[in-house]
Amino acid sequence: MSATTPSTPIHTICPYCGVGCGVIMTRITKGYQLKADNQHPANFGKLCSKGAALAETLDDGDRLLYPITKGKRATWDAALSEVTHTFQRIIAEHGPDAVAFYVSGQLLTEDYYVANKLMKGFIGSGNIDTNSRLCMSTAVAAHKRAFGADAVPVSYEDMEAADLVVLIGSNYAWAHPVLYQRLMAARKMRPGMRVVVIDPRRTATCDIADLHLAISPGSDGFLFNGLLNYLRREDALNLSYIEAHVEGFSAALHTARLAGSIPEVALNCGVPEAQISEFFHLFLRTERTVSIFSQGINQSSSGVDKANALINLHLATGRIGKPGMGPFSVTGQPNAMGGREVGGLANQLAAHMDFTDPGHIDTVSRFWNAPHIAQKPGLKAVEMFQAIADGKIRAVWIMGTNPAVSLPDADRVRQALQACECVVVSDCVRHTDTTACADILLPAMGWGEKDGTVTNSERRISRQRAFLPPAGEAQPDWWIITQVAQRMGWAAEFSYTRAAQIFREHASLSGFENLTQRAFDISAFADLSDNDYETLQPVQWPVNAAHPQGSQRLFTDGKFFTPSGKAQMWPITPRMPAQTTDAEFPFVLNTGRIRDQWHTMTRTGKVPRLNTHYPEPFIEIHVTDALVHHLANGSLAELRSRHGKMLARVQINEDQRPGSLFVPMHWSDVFAQAARVDALVAPITDPISGQPESKHTPVCITPLHPTWQGFVLSRTALHFDDTRYCAAACCGTYWRYELAGDHRPSVWSDWAHDILGLSADWSEYRDDASGRYRAACLVDGQLQAVFFVAADHHLPAREWLASLFKSGQLTASERTHLLSARPARGSADPGRIICACHGVGEKTILNAIHQNKLTSIEAIGLRTQAGTGCGSCVAELRRILERA
Ligand code: SF4
Repeated sequence: MSATTPSTPIHTICPYCGVGCGVIMTRITKGYQLKADNQHPANFGKLCSKGAALAETLDDGDRLLYPITKGKRATWDAALSEVTHTFQRIIAEHGPDAVAFYVSGQLLTEDYYVANKLMKGFIGSGNIDTNSRLCMSTAVAAHKRAFGADAVPVSYEDMEAADLVVLIGSNYAWAHPVLYQRLMAARKMRPGMRVVVIDPRRTATCDIADLHLAISPGSDGFLFNGLLNYLRREDALNLSYIEAHVEGFSAALHTARLAGSIPEVALNCGVPEAQISEFFHLFLRTERTVSIFSQGINQSSSGVDKANALINLHLATGRIGKPGMGPFSVTGQPNAMGGREVGGLANQLAAHMDFTDPGHIDTVSRFWNAPHIAQKPGLKAVEMFQAIADGKIRAVWIMGTNPAVSLPDADRVRQALQACECVVVSDCVRHTDTTACADILLPAMGWGEKDGTVTNSERRISRQRAFLPPAGEAQPDWWIITQVAQRMGWAAEFSYTRAAQIFREHASLSGFENLTQRAFDISAFADLSDNDYETLQPVQWPVNAAHPQGSQRLFTDGKFFTPSGKAQMWPITPRMPAQTTDAEFPFVLNTGRIRDQWHTMTRTGKVPRLNTHYPEPFIEIHVTDALVHHLANGSLAELRSRHGKMLARVQINEDQRPGSLFVPMHWSDVFAQAARVDALVAPITDPISGQPESKHTPVCITPLHPTWQGFVLSRTALHFDDTRYCAAACCGTYWRYELAGDHRPSVWSDWAHDILGLSADWSEYRDDASGRYRAACLVDGQLQAVFFVAADHHLPAREWLASLFKSGQLTASERTHLLSARPARGSADPGRIICACHGVGEKTILNAIHQNKLTSIEAIGLRTQAGTGCGSCVAELRRILERA
């Protein structure tokens, strides 16, 4: 572990998405100052709203500070011994496959490496899988089929150098915001660059699209095959490249012919012929094309085929291995790629070696000195939790992830964990839906405390450095794992004392008997000194004798990692999603990320300004569907699938295709009652990658008619029992609760007074006929809480009331207007916050546009500061401007 000098700026990496932005943390009088790293090649000084708010997440609130066994505080020694003895007993009684590790793309590469080594090498089971299974295992499988290796061919610079960027199934503007900013900047520099977005939903990313193909959900394979067939017909294939570097061409082309001509493709994809024609023509005539794909492709029961159909296009046109060209899978998590390198997926072995090759098993076994190494792949995430439910896996160790929220069929996952003989969770957070199921809790270091490496979407390895002391008794994940390994009897094999040792071993294994046959090779780091590890600069693998400075781009020589050295085109027969809608479940539910939250909100949920953009879970629905189903904007609705149900707020727009719904994936039981969207998602997976089909769940939607609805803003955290719906958001000086209930309290004021627990200065208004109750509580003239209740969702806007929590004593005018929830005429009401960086609300922006006749984003920025921080809100600003 590195000791850091407090005032020295520490260069580290944002812990959220796979862009892997560099940040610099410097200790200041009160806390830490965060700056974007101008020198880091992933972001060159840019950050998004989440990254820019990292310094606001460093408090110890809700940290897991010490080991807990069976609900009681324990010593590290006792907790580690209990984990060891339980695992040893179960392995002795039921064999190694009766235990499992479920790990995370939040782990550092060194943590991942030792976890994989312990499970596969020494426990002797393949049962270690990762939450990256839910995010990019499809891309891994497609890369391996096409290139013979899980290798991303391109760099971020290739995206900027392309003349055509095709974004498929990716809300890039919100999920990879800094790459989106780089794309916007590149387009501004080269106005000839074209951007095509392929997505059933109109997202913020479409803001820069020259063409948006809102294809029917799941029809991507028809589109890609149709394009390949079109390129053949137009004689636009690169036959000399195919001849020299590609196999499988004829078979792939044969199946692509079945896609038919443009009218047939248009019919299958549900978009006008003219749009298909425009896209095909653009692709045909643009040599420098980068195709960026993400969860819209990956989270599908035919995702691997779709990804290969896309890669086929690049192979057939020779658009790979050259500047500005190539297929580009962008990863969701900060170290999903690092996990792939060490073999963190159950079907991988280590260092890009596989169970499918007995030679690889022998190589890793000798390198690790592990004679009892696993001989076969373990269970992939969804299978793993089914095996836990079936009692086949009796002990599971979950590291840094929250499967009770994020896995499909999440209710069943939670039940499986509750019934499991032993659930160990190592995490930095005390209260999650998953820690609630744990028998043993082990405190892991969080971001800012951990030390190691991560790899981003473009194969760039960067150092994540510690700048904080550990919270409580927290330890690095690698330390926790190796302590258990040592207690299990493998002290010599897990004798690491610092992360640098593990990194050297990982680097050494990558080059061991490699002979240029494996893409992942960082053998140049096998002898890295501790000091050089400390100062390691961002670098793209491979980093070996042939490429000592790293490798910006792969396959430049047309050589691939298949036995023949040629890339493989795959014949793809497109399939629609596994489940279809019917009269009972007529809508397709799509899940995804929103701009300001990350995963299950355990870190971003702490940041008030990130909670203001979307303070509660919501369902996006097309306006015509809303009309048909009697859903009002802002009302509550219940979503139901064959697997579960949830409640959320209705948002009506025209961004959804009719028949499709969108719900964000972030809300857990910690932040909202009954809003875990993965409770609805079926455990249906791609047959090759095992990645769940999280983008296509048949559901029905019905309006919720609770007896009452309301909101409470309170200076202190409150608890609401007996509510049907409750969504909580920490907003800095106050907490916001959105509520609905089926049982009306006999006396509203008693209810409010009991919940707040304060006998103070109350103002109240009650109208029993309309079901309205409003109350405000002040102590010494300072606002403590407001309670607003109505018979339906027609409640006043919260923003002005919320702004009063920043004040000390309220003015007489503010007190007068409190229960009307509207400021006196002429006072500012910011409206819903749009710009998280500068806290600028929608009404402020609209007023500025109208009063000053603003016509550009730049002018809005000059007037209001909106959009001048991280830039993540620019797409929304453009929409507001258009509306205005
Ligand atoms: Fe972090 Fe945002 Fe960069 Fe992703 S794009 S790494 S969330 S700052």
